[in-house]
Amino acid sequence: MIAAAGVDIGSTTSKAVVVVDGVPVAHAISASSTNPARTAQQVYDEALGLAGLDPSRIAHVVGTGYGRARVAFADRDVSEITCHGRGAVFLRPSARTVIDIGGQDTKVICLDPTGHLADFAMNDKCAAGTGRFLDAMARSLDIRVENMGDLYFEPGDPCRITSMCSVFAESEVINLIHDGIALPRIIKGLLLSLAGRVSSQARRVGLEDDVVITGGVAKNPGVRRALEEKLGTTLRGFGDTDPQVVGALGAALLAHEFAVAGPAPGGGQP
Ligand code: ADP
Repeated sequence: MIAAAGVDIGSTTSKAVVVVDGVPVAHAISASSTNPARTAQQVYDEALGLAGLDPSRIAHVVGTGYGRARVAFADRDVSEITCHGRGAVFLRPSARTVIDIGGQDTKVICLDPTGHLADFAMNDKCAAGTGRFLDAMARSLDIRVENMGDLYFEPGDPCRITSMCSVFAESEVINLIHDGIALPRIIKGLLLSLAGRVSSQARRVGLEDDVVITGGVAKNPGVRRALEEKLGTTLRGFGDTDPQVVGALGAALLAHEFAVAGPAPGGGQP
């Protein structure tokens, strides 16, 4: 038996996945904190506990995400672009485009027919096309971000949100509330605005089917539908696998490959 793990320290949440012989057996998700090293240890311990494994049984750990350098117990770190691609292809071998919408950045990853990275585009300078935008709007609307998506399917035309900047969009939303506009109409406008940003980003690198979506925002059914409308394509799913842990899963699968390959001369990747 070879057990390995991936730990993804994101800007908003930290994730850990444990694989045994290359098969995922447990995962954990925890809010990121101002102490990424401690959060990494906590989320790793939780996933190991769920897998029923002692840390001594883990042959290799790969860290990823913006805080990957802070995963003190990792054997090496790998970029989240590689890890999201790896995790997505494992779950859906026909995936060619991976749209990862996280808390602070959005990435569009193009894969070649062998599942390897061909190109990518990243938006990390502006909150407008990310989970942070939705988190801020949910706060203004006094609802939970987890409940936002279902409102997309309620009746009513979407409001037009004109501000591209999330700070100005927040003022726009507050004005709409004061004007008595129904919540679902505002939510639809917001989700379409986010989807518009992400779809322009995706078009810049080019879209190829199958298109899959990863990251915490993939759990928002309204975002999925709005993106499908903007992209004119169906977003494929991963069955029961939580899309938020796909990066950590990719890291764990790479960790497994490193463990099987053994120490590589010069530290090359398998
Ligand atoms: P990162 O890796 O950058 O920390 P994640 O991929 O974990 O980010 O995504 C975090 C975002 O996911 C949050 O900002 C939030 O908007 C969104 N999110 C998390 N859980 C849910 C959920 N159950 N429903 C809708 N959105 C969610």
